[in-house]
Amino acid sequence: MKANDPTLKSWVEVPANSDFPIQNLPFGIGSSADGDTRVVSRIGDMVIDLRALWLLGYLEDLDFTMKDFDSTTLNGMMRKGKEGTRSLRNRLSDLFSSDNTEISANTEHIPQILLEIDKVTLLIPVCVGDYTDFYSSEQHAYNVGCMFRDPDNALMPNWKHLPVGYHGRASSIVVSGTPMHRPKGQQKINDDEPPVFGPCRLLDFELEMTFVTYEGKPLGDSISTEEADDYIFGMALFNDWSARDIQKWEYIPLGPFLAKSFATHVAPWIVTLDALEPFRVAGPVQDPKVLPYLEFSGNKHIDINLQVAIQPENSTEKVVTNSNYKHMYWNMNQQLAHHTSNGCNINVGDMMASGTISGPEEGQYGSMLEVSWKGTKPVSMPDGTERRFINDHDTVIMRGYSEKDNVRVGFGEVSVKVLPAK
Ligand code: MN
Repeated sequence: MKANDPTLKSWVEVPANSDFPIQNLPFGIGSSADGDTRVVSRIGDMVIDLRALWLLGYLEDLDFTMKDFDSTTLNGMMRKGKEGTRSLRNRLSDLFSSDNTEISANTEHIPQILLEIDKVTLLIPVCVGDYTDFYSSEQHAYNVGCMFRDPDNALMPNWKHLPVGYHGRASSIVVSGTPMHRPKGQQKINDDEPPVFGPCRLLDFELEMTFVTYEGKPLGDSISTEEADDYIFGMALFNDWSARDIQKWEYIPLGPFLAKSFATHVAPWIVTLDALEPFRVAGPVQDPKVLPYLEFSGNKHIDINLQVAIQPENSTEKVVTNSNYKHMYWNMNQQLAHHTSNGCNINVGDMMASGTISGPEEGQYGSMLEVSWKGTKPVSMPDGTERRFINDHDTVIMRGYSEKDNVRVGFGEVSVKVLPAK
């Protein structure tokens, strides 16, 4: 599609290495200093006010209403489905292309439409319906299996037959920058002593990507792998925090609970699946062969470079991992097909996360559990301290971008400072 043409340039200045060239045009929710909130996009270091574009008549040929842009969530806009949001991104691409003079000829409109990024507070972009977390990175599942079982039985017997997942907690998904207190919970520190309640001692990040859905089908119907792309709006960076000590004690037999639900942080920008099309790649060969409802055609994986850094207070950051979304075993189409294969419905604004994304090499692992190998390999920090897990006052920063033909389509970052337990 034209909006993805790598030769496109904008009349808005885009700094070199920006995550937000004209080929991206992600969606988010922005609030100005007076608390006035609206749907926004972004180009370079400028935020595009979509409500202003609507009010000034630049979007009048599209199937939207004022309410879709004068909103505190993207949900209304997303109800227009793939065709609606695609037409919107295509229109933004036209309006901001260097050969288009509709806005640039009306210079008095520009200050209303383009806001400086540091004058806008970015909010959580969608009202999250349900949250599902998968476990779809083979290396991550293998590493965890090696640590807690043994290398010969690292993957559970079901793992290569279905994308394992669980239902998470939507209420505690918050936007990047929201401070987080260290969670408290029940832990069994010594096998021969009773459990205790207190601050988590093994706080960990999980490097993930989430996809966000459009409205689905009625309860009882399923979405096939072929149809899945039409139900996925876009993707965002996602830090799916874990309290490893709480998790270890509570998870048997029903799985993740309070060790996961205390907070999850999402980046403010949803990058559309359309903008990610140029970065599609083939995934790993799936062996054994999957059941027919999980078969798919075409390249359904995406090449997204991912990074996690830890910044101790009053010090510089240290990159602790470099991974890539292309390493996933199960792709989004298979995840969504599996999720709905029993007739479970999805709603607009559901978030479905990948699971921790670990690459095949050391240095590419997506959690401190793996990076420090259960705490046996501490990471040295620039300030002389060591990390096995995350300390109070640390800031954990995740970044991600795709790059091809000198076009970089990025996701911004998820940055969170950990505060002491309340
Ligand atoms: Mn997770």
